[in-house]
Amino acid sequence: HGKRIGGDRIDIYKPAMRARKTDRLTLESELRRALEREEITLLYQPIVRLEDRSVAGFEALARWDHPKMGRLSPSEFISIAEEIGLIVDLGLFALERTARQLAIWQRAVPTRVPLFASVNVSSRQLLRHDLIHDLRTVMARSGLMRGSLKLEMTESLVMENPELAAQILHRIKELGAGLALDDFGTGHSSLAYLQRFPFDTIKIDKSFVRTTAKGTRPVLLRSIIGLAHDLGMEVVAEGAETDSDAVELYQLGCEYVQGYVFGEPMPAEAARELLIGDRLALARG
Ligand code: C2E
Ligand code: MG
Ligand code: MG
Ligand code: MG
Repeated sequence: HGKRIGGDRIDIYKPAMRARKTDRLTLESELRRALEREEITLLYQPIVRLEDRSVAGFEALARWDHPKMGRLSPSEFISIAEEIGLIVDLGLFALERTARQLAIWQRAVPTRVPLFASVNVSSRQLLRHDLIHDLRTVMARSGLMRGSLKLEMTESLVMENPELAAQILHRIKELGAGLALDDFGTGHSSLAYLQRFPFDTIKIDKSFVRTTAKGTRPVLLRSIIGLAHDLGMEVVAEGAETDSDAVELYQLGCEYVQGYVFGEPMPAEAARELLIGDRLALARG
């Protein structure tokens, strides 16, 4: 150790690099088979209406139960799925499964305002694949209430090709799905610009929702919420972890919170139980 001469370093690092490359190739081929082997599952995280703290909807979040490595989070496989083109199949799986799940929940637990569910959509799925075709099939089959199935996407995705994205997003709305702008605040575009896209919801990124080390909340939060409302959009704050987060967000006029304070991503069955308990509590007043 400690040799700083280039040639030696290459010899030292080569085997490790080769191993990593093999791992990556193995992971790719395992991921290709993961869907048919039913190793990809969806967890659902509650999105809570702050006004009465009722469950308003769920976001579907993918997990990969790898036979050897255990449960992998999206950061460990979504970008691979995007690179190898598998995201189209994975995305369709998430869309179909969530639509079916939402229809089951809506039938089992009727609510005054329809329960919603949202699914993440990635760039390749939206811009380089005929998502409209898939969505039309899913919507026709599911019998869901209008607007209750929502697609989430980030502004960077939309900005990759704004003209094409705008066209596709308008068609998505025509098909009766909702649209949420995910991770808002992490990109560079202004809400005023984003107005040209038919989003009905913005989800403010965790990094804005958290209090800083000094215990203050980013000042931008209040103006983002106000502007979103002026533009006719509803606001979900992501990543609220404490009750005081939730109280403050409510005071700032935010409608919904999705964060560990109200529940982590959970299997469909647990989500159903949460929902039933929630409606019983609401009915009791
Ligand atoms: P996202 O869509 O912004 O989802 C929210 C992420 O924040 C989730 O991470 C969720 O578990 C996490 N989160 C929620 N509340 C809290 C909190 O209070 N504290 C903290 N620290 N984290 C919280 P997750 O499940 O790891 O997903 C990460 C990202 O992976 C998602 O971010 C989304 O961009 C992507 N993703 C997940 N599932 C899919 C999918 O089916 N398709 C596509 N294309 N992307 C997906
Ligand atoms: Mg999301
Ligand atoms: Mg997000
Ligand atoms: Mg994110």
